[in-house]
Amino acid sequence: MYGIRIQFAASVFSALLLFLIAEVWAQSSVADQYGAKVSQLVNGMYPKLEDVYKDIHAHPELGFQETRTAAKLAAEMSAMGFQVVVAIFRNGPGPTVLVRTELDALPMEEKTGLPYASTVKSTSFGRETFVAHSCGHDIHMASWLGTARTLLALKDQWQGTLMFVAQPAEELSSGAKAMLADGLFMRFGKPNFAFALHTYPAPFGTVAYNVGPITSNSDGLEITFKGHGGHGSAPDKTVDPIAIAAHFIVDVQTVVSREKNPMEFGVVTVGAMQAGTVGNIIPDSAVLRGTIRSYKPEVRAKLLDGVRRTAKAAAMMAGAPEPEVTLEEDPLAVVNSEQVVAATEPVLQAAFGADNVKRVPPVTASEDFSAFVNEGVPSMFFLIGVYPPERVAESMKPGGKPLPSNHSPLFAPVPEPSIKTGVQAMSLAVLNVLTKH
Ligand SMILES: [Zn+2]
Ligand SMILES: [Zn+2]
Repeated sequence: MYGIRIQFAASVFSALLLFLIAEVWAQSSVADQYGAKVSQLVNGMYPKLEDVYKDIHAHPELGFQETRTAAKLAAEMSAMGFQVVVAIFRNGPGPTVLVRTELDALPMEEKTGLPYASTVKSTSFGRETFVAHSCGHDIHMASWLGTARTLLALKDQWQGTLMFVAQPAEELSSGAKAMLADGLFMRFGKPNFAFALHTYPAPFGTVAYNVGPITSNSDGLEITFKGHGGHGSAPDKTVDPIAIAAHFIVDVQTVVSREKNPMEFGVVTVGAMQAGTVGNIIPDSAVLRGTIRSYKPEVRAKLLDGVRRTAKAAAMMAGAPEPEVTLEEDPLAVVNSEQVVAATEPVLQAAFGADNVKRVPPVTASEDFSAFVNEGVPSMFFLIGVYPPERVAESMKPGGKPLPSNHSPLFAPVPEPSIKTGVQAMSLAVLNVLTKH
């Protein structure tokens, strides 16, 4: 729905582009025309991409510290002829297409045992930590570079402007917003389309996406319940914030089970509770931290309202002061444009085979690519698999061991088929909206 709204709000120029998409869709010709050429290019450049991938994998950097990674990508892009800040390549009149990769790694220890595994350490929130590319952002970077190379090799076949965005701090959910606040679209123009891909623990050679939401709305929750401390043996002389917090933790689940439409996705999780020091002191306050997830704006509004109301009610029931409730918008859901998905889908199906390309329900994780989309850019965010199909099949059998997912210390994509799928899928998706007719 959202995709349709932003599409209609766009200019006449975009209406022409829609027509262009419709035409491409009808012919489904981009994969037929360029599929073989693209895979030939990808095969030729793959050894270089693998070198970059393994180098980035072994040298991960945390959010807003990605200087080496950014310099590496900038050098590769400017060698190709992009103007680097955001890497822009102008190739005649036509639409502007944003292609996003993330730069950052995670503060965790890699335990894959791969020869190119990271042993890097850095500082995260004042603490020393290992750093690892356990979310697959290194696969995304290699795919992003390969896509740029492929599109440049075919530059006499399309017109328009490539806006290759290497975004910091996706894991901190703040890099995309920081780039927009820094004037990304003001300085380089608002793109007509945007694409991003993400790895996930599915068979390599497969692509998945959804129309509408593909990731969740994420809101951070922090509540401070204020009581009145005292001796554990005399609770009547106190207002016990731990009892209030306990009420809240249980009662807030009825917002999910009784107030929200049971057919719609919504989660409220309290993941941390901090209160008190020893068993015989009732503390003055209790702090809860949690996360609230949803796909639809109306479900999100209902959950946020319910959380606030339940927190106040729990305090009021105990005669305590009003609690401090902080709800922090983490990324909003990434909502894929119906038109962009409809235009891209047949091209991906022709390239990878209909069995390997599918619509999937949204994932419960979140992504700040939504910050670009929510500027009113018709977009598509798709997932690519990274594991051998037979291992995935084995893991799905009854009693099978689940394969390590993103953010697991054992997450280990198979580079070659994953990167090749990323480059092919992204190159064809971009060509499809830029091809001359
Ligand atoms: Zn991640
Ligand atoms: Zn990620």
